[in-house]
Amino acid sequence: MFAKILINLPIDETFWYNLGRFSGKVGKYQRVKVIFSGEETEGLVLNVSETCPSKGLGEITSPIDKEPIFSDIQMEFAKFVSEYYTCTLSEAVFLMIPKGSRYSKKDGGDNTKIELKVRFTEEQEIAYKKISDNLGKGKIFLLHGVTGSGKTEIYRKLVSDVINNGKSCLLLVPEISLTAQLVDRFSFVPKEIKEVYHSKLTDNERFNIYMDVMKGIKKFVIGARSSIFLPFNDLELIIVDEEHETSYKSSSTPRYNVRDLVRWLSKNKNITTVLGSATPLVEDYYKSLSGEYELLTLSNRYSKYQDIDVEIVDMKKEKENTIISRKVLYEIMNKLEEKEQVLVFINRRAFSQFVICNNCGYVPSCPNCDIPLTYHKSRGTLECHHCGYKEKYVEVCKSCKVSKMKEVGFGTERVEEALKGLIHGHKIFRVDMDSMKEKESYDELYRSLKNGELDIIVGTQIISKGIDIPNINLVCVFYPEFSLRLPDFYASERTFFLISQAVGRAGRRNKKGKSIIQTYDTDHFSITTGVKQNYREFYKYEIERREKFRYPPFYYITRFIFRSEEEKKCLEVGNASRIIIEGITFKRNDTFVSPLLPAPIKKISKNYRYQIIVKSKDENLLTSIQKAVYRELNRKKGVYIEIDRNPISLL
Ligand SMILES: [Zn+2]
Ligand SMILES: [Zn+2]
Ligand SMILES: [Zn+2]
Repeated sequence: MFAKILINLPIDETFWYNLGRFSGKVGKYQRVKVIFSGEETEGLVLNVSETCPSKGLGEITSPIDKEPIFSDIQMEFAKFVSEYYTCTLSEAVFLMIPKGSRYSKKDGGDNTKIELKVRFTEEQEIAYKKISDNLGKGKIFLLHGVTGSGKTEIYRKLVSDVINNGKSCLLLVPEISLTAQLVDRFSFVPKEIKEVYHSKLTDNERFNIYMDVMKGIKKFVIGARSSIFLPFNDLELIIVDEEHETSYKSSSTPRYNVRDLVRWLSKNKNITTVLGSATPLVEDYYKSLSGEYELLTLSNRYSKYQDIDVEIVDMKKEKENTIISRKVLYEIMNKLEEKEQVLVFINRRAFSQFVICNNCGYVPSCPNCDIPLTYHKSRGTLECHHCGYKEKYVEVCKSCKVSKMKEVGFGTERVEEALKGLIHGHKIFRVDMDSMKEKESYDELYRSLKNGELDIIVGTQIISKGIDIPNINLVCVFYPEFSLRLPDFYASERTFFLISQAVGRAGRRNKKGKSIIQTYDTDHFSITTGVKQNYREFYKYEIERREKFRYPPFYYITRFIFRSEEEKKCLEVGNASRIIIEGITFKRNDTFVSPLLPAPIKKISKNYRYQIIVKSKDENLLTSIQKAVYRELNRKKGVYIEIDRNPISLL
């Protein structure tokens, strides 16, 4: 017997192998070990046949699975992924199968019935009813509700309904929000049919959940991004919570986004989806207003949540080089006196943004990347935030050897230092990627928070996400304009999200909360609407911009990045690609092709980066363009072509 095998390598062809002594023991959709190009690798059997239609590559080494671990439905899904994002079928297929292989079958709870009592507000009731009437009908709902409006309560009821229907349900959350707290909210689902799926599991743990889902034993999974590929047979409902989160997009090939995939699943598999958020992506909000999705709004906070007082401090009116304004300091002191906890939010880590010589203007920059180095005072280093390069900080200019270096701009470290200089006898804790490298730092943070030991927390956006801090009564947002100044079209949207989420942290208690925004940029619409948490107003500005500059939802975008250690090769392959793209699009007035230009960050980790951005109203045209470029140029030596469909950042 012979088997047609899809090899787990990024190649397009399939190969025939002799099953030899494993004939009869290996069938379709089982994995096997084979020798390919002199090396042992795994492959998936696509077909078994008596005869070998082409020259075989020898005998398989051994089977991996005892039973099929893939299905036709998954294959259809994998084909879509490989087409849409332009990768090989094998890349798509092996993206979907966890690496483990030891499976021990469990018993599931068949016919589980759940009794769950919920109390809904009128708005919740309406939203819930709409969704539950459409389970398994392939509809997409956008559930727009501010923090504390009770979205999770609706999810809970829906999950219990689906399980009582004997069907399956998937709840997707950003990895960082996958906390015990959240899982606890679903403790009403018996653990025999429930799983939590995330990247910290071992390969075999992941594989076991995967198989349990395939066999219909597990009916409800709470998971991060990759759980979208779990092989459910009877999925009725997908809930994507915090749908605006960037973690739903993969940053390696294929650069898939859960939001694209649910569109396909709803259309082709009749799975109903709920996208939930307090700050939906502008694209998705547009789709829900134009009828492609259905909008459900929860405007009321539960009564126990109070409004938030918001104030903007205009730093143009403060003394030069002030880090903490008088107003902010005054409010912090007040809260500390009342024994309240304070959150200071600044979206940049390290001490200073960069250092510069006052005499000759020299700015130390990364030897591998096209960006200045960041000063970390606590470690005495200059560091690159893109490739991890480090060097010792020397105070005297390396270039002219005359003047001392000056620190420009600031981040969490400097704010922490400034606060410590102004406020004594209170515990100040910094939370950013540098201070939270170890898992123990999180444990310490949680413990101190619980015991009420921390008075001030200074942190980057990681505090506005995963960490629930119950007793915060004052939130200070420092310089949200930092993220606005990035040369990225999506910066205004992300800045709005950042501010409105940070501001929203203040009001999670029985007391009225307060937020202060300290900024130089008092007029930017992301800031003025963000402090009011006014999504509709922000949306009006942003959607106009999108239309004017031809961005989603009005145009679809594919970004090609040509990456190479040799700049010449980027240009060579980039220009060749542009000719191919022009050839396909030259008569189209619904499609725009940018020139080949250096990416905003021209060099990362020794690799030059050039890009072409294609915008089109025709989604299928982009698929053809991607395919053509890939087919013609993917094998050029020394250049890597990143194909990023629906990019979420343009840096
Ligand atoms: Zn750093
Ligand atoms: Zn670097
Ligand atoms: Zn100098």
